[in-house]
Amino acid sequence: MSGLKQRLIQVQAAIRKAEAASGRTEGSVSLLAVSKQQPVAAIAELAAAGHYQFGENYLQEALPKIQALATVDVEWHFIGPIQSNKTRSIAEHFAWVHSVDRLRIAQRLSEQRPIDQAPLNICLQVNVSDEVSKSGLRPDAVAELAHSVAKLPRLRLRGLMTIPAASTDLAEQRRPFARLRQLQAQLNRQGLALDTLSMGMSADLEAAVAEGATLVRIGTAIFGPRPPRT
Ligand SMILES: *Cc1c(COP(=O)(O)O)cnc(C)c1O
Repeated sequence: MSGLKQRLIQVQAAIRKAEAASGRTEGSVSLLAVSKQQPVAAIAELAAAGHYQFGENYLQEALPKIQALATVDVEWHFIGPIQSNKTRSIAEHFAWVHSVDRLRIAQRLSEQRPIDQAPLNICLQVNVSDEVSKSGLRPDAVAELAHSVAKLPRLRLRGLMTIPAASTDLAEQRRPFARLRQLQAQLNRQGLALDTLSMGMSADLEAAVAEGATLVRIGTAIFGPRPPRT
């Protein structure tokens, strides 16, 4: 078996173990393989092994990969920063967008989602760390945007996403994830029906699963270190 497939299996096992450790139902956490800066051949190999969900950050890089794999049964998730002149292409080529943090972007995605495709699945990106530099909404701005996005006809608001400040301490890793889970619960009490918490990467998967992640976004632990961006 190739190293790539082996690492996929190891990551899946780590997720199952984390689910069991926190009393979660087996299979309640899905795995998004983050394939940014990785070649088409690696994605094709994982798809042939049965992996289905892939995440990309950069539209220019993602489009040729999506085209090259057009006949392969995979689902594409956009997880990077969104410029408004890129929304049409994102609305046409992805099944999910995890990184919506303003209404104008959501409106464009809804307007531009092709009518022959299912509604685009959306997560709002929230900045739950105290870092000012990270992108994402402030927690106190989430409710207003969530209720507006939920009304857009060609979108389906699924949940919240976060990229917390890095930490190697488990308790510290869990804090922002717990905050995201509380925000989701609060929105659901207000009548929304969010079923997704997109949180956890290679270095903090266990903390995220312990705090209720339903989808973890894993790059390095599957593909190995990324080559530098050119
Ligand atoms: C790159 C990236 C990941 C994956 O990070 P790893 O540390 O390689 O697992 C997850 N989410 C987002 C938004 C990313 O940009």
